[in-house]
Amino acid sequence: MTDSVLRFMDELGPEKVVHIYNPQHRLKAVLVIDNVAIGPSIGGIRMAPDVTEKEAFRLARAMTLKNAAAGLPHGGGKSVIQADPKSISESEKEILIRSFAQAIRELKDYIPGPDMGTDETCMAWIKDEINRSVGLPATIGGIPLDEIGATAWGLLASANTACEMYQIPLAGARASIQGFGAVGKHAARFFQNSGARIVAVSDSGGTAYRPDGLDVPELLKLKSEGQSVVSYEGAETGDTDMIVSLPSDIWIPAARPDIINTENVASLDTQLILQGANIPITEEAEEILFEKGIHNIPDFIANAGGVICASVEYHGGTEKQALDVIAQKIETNTRHVIRKSLDEKISPRRAAHALALERVQEAMQFRRI
Ligand code: NAD
Repeated sequence: MTDSVLRFMDELGPEKVVHIYNPQHRLKAVLVIDNVAIGPSIGGIRMAPDVTEKEAFRLARAMTLKNAAAGLPHGGGKSVIQADPKSISESEKEILIRSFAQAIRELKDYIPGPDMGTDETCMAWIKDEINRSVGLPATIGGIPLDEIGATAWGLLASANTACEMYQIPLAGARASIQGFGAVGKHAARFFQNSGARIVAVSDSGGTAYRPDGLDVPELLKLKSEGQSVVSYEGAETGDTDMIVSLPSDIWIPAARPDIINTENVASLDTQLILQGANIPITEEAEEILFEKGIHNIPDFIANAGGVICASVEYHGGTEKQALDVIAQKIETNTRHVIRKSLDEKISPRRAAHALALERVQEAMQFRRI
């Protein structure tokens, strides 16, 4: 184990690090079960050619905090499979996934879910092998979380609470959404239905901006035809960076990590950020936002809708129950984090971290040493 990985070991975990190698199936994977004091860990399987052990450590810890903050009866874990999902055939992918499933058969403290490079079909193969996975297709009892917009539904719940507490009326608010995939598309729909004006959206093709508001059904139509949002007629368009400095009241990153950093944070012109993506803003940039008084709800509070949905599915709940639980949990957590941040004059990130840590540490006290 390298020094850079040893750096991630602390009083919370990880509980287990498992390296999996099966030369016959060309399977190379790492599973990190970070902390299971609250319950068996839930976390995705990421498949990409450049995944690392370090990435698995960071993501597993993020899941411990996200699941604890969301009040789920689950700890955090994550696994990475080193393979390029775009350059292998479906049957090669199936062999890798089924082989991985067999390798983790006895590691019952880990419940795998989908992540980059894996999907509900992969989860169905795993369920078939070891009867343990979340994010399943609807035909075998799953709740299709990306189809119903579970994460975006949670973002809206967070927005409702944050807007009320920070006194930013959601009706009429100008919203910008970076990334127009599973999270961004549904966020646009839900926020427009709640009275917000979607003034800017972006995808990997660039940015579309219209101060009077973009028509979301029209944007969805463009995406369903395989076009970029920049094909929107009547919008001002530009590169992917353009969306960062456009004026808005609510800014929703729903694309890539570290997109806001010390280089561009000063150009953000908004009042409230709701983090749809995971780690979209670097730690240093978050501190700058806090000093500038730009409100910023961290990822593991605002974007927990997906994992909450997966947990409801695992415990046999319905889609309706999942949406209700997402709204209720994310509203409560957003309120708690904002109140703590205001009372203690600390950033919402610090407040959220303290909340999650408290829950994990409390649960750890009940464990046999
Ligand atoms: P996705 O692949 O469906 O969509 C990503 C979108 O981002 C695409 O529209 C893509 O064109 C766009 N994009 C890529 N690079 C961009 C750039 N530089 N600028 C603007 N747009 C860019 O992914 P998703 O499921 O919507 O996830 C988005 C983010 O949210 C990821 O960080 C993911 O980890 C996080 N997240 C997703 C969920 C979920 O339920 N899907 C849950 C929690 C967190």
